[in-house]
Amino acid sequence: MQIFLTYDYELFFGEPTGSVEKCIVEPTNLLREIAKRTGIKLIFFIDVGYLKKLEQFKNQFPKVKHEHDLVKEQIRMLVSEGHDCQLHIHPHWEDSVHNGINWEMNVSRYKLVDFSDDEIVKIVLDYQTILKNLTQKQVTIYRAGGWCLQPFSRIKSAFEKAELKLDSSVFPGGKFVEGNYFYDFTTAPKKSIWKFEDDLCIENSNGKFIEYPISSYKYSALFFWRLFLLGRLNPKQHKPIGNGYPMSSPGMRKKMLTTGMLLSASCDGYFVTKLNSVLKKNQNIGYNEMVVLGHPKACTHFALQKLEQFIQVNKNKHQFLTFSQLLLK
Ligand SMILES: [Zn+2]
Repeated sequence: MQIFLTYDYELFFGEPTGSVEKCIVEPTNLLREIAKRTGIKLIFFIDVGYLKKLEQFKNQFPKVKHEHDLVKEQIRMLVSEGHDCQLHIHPHWEDSVHNGINWEMNVSRYKLVDFSDDEIVKIVLDYQTILKNLTQKQVTIYRAGGWCLQPFSRIKSAFEKAELKLDSSVFPGGKFVEGNYFYDFTTAPKKSIWKFEDDLCIENSNGKFIEYPISSYKYSALFFWRLFLLGRLNPKQHKPIGNGYPMSSPGMRKKMLTTGMLLSASCDGYFVTKLNSVLKKNQNIGYNEMVVLGHPKACTHFALQKLEQFIQVNKNKHQFLTFSQLLLK
């Protein structure tokens, strides 16, 4: 199995967004240490809208200048250590500002498709350039903010112009169309890799883009009860290091606690306990790829310990890879 551990590198988008130190710098440094100890490389999907706004406000506010320096320095370190830093777009940054104290998030245009066709192309190309200039590496790999990349037909032209090659936003079977979210992967191929052209969820053997879907897993209601209870009972181990709040996802918590939910395979918090089950499930279906989603902001100390164990146990039986290593092959 080729295993890809991916982390979306970003603040929270609710109120408050949390601090850069707690949501990004500190947990990412802990991940770097795990990577060093285990000898593997990670994939970081960098929220480039944030970088753009750091640049825009850094001369106005010393607080932003401080954030800017921390984040840019850390991304340079990640690149120098061989981690893959690729494109993650949360376009609502276009409408968001810093007031000298906090980020004021305006999430009314949360998805790329909430923008005009011309704006979509401009955002993708501008953000790609910002990241390329910082990393001095090819940027051809994409993860949509909030899994929102549909309808892809409206984004395809931006992908072509930016020469993006590989997407990792879909988790087959997933669906959430409430609040600012819109994704529906219920018709996605039941595969661990496919090519596509106009529709993310339709395999097209002549397609110019390749999808490496995030593995999916059906988490039971009991799982979510445990997750929420452990956060209360043992916050030191089970509370996220990140100190912000997510954007609202109406009805999701209720669904989790009553029927359970199919979500992506994840190394965030208590989700890490299911990585072995996801691996087994993928092996049983005959998949050769397993993509895991995580966020530095949602790392708990418990999750980091378990992740390291998972890597140690599996690194000789399976390959832990980055997408760039794959494209260079
Ligand atoms: Zn994100």
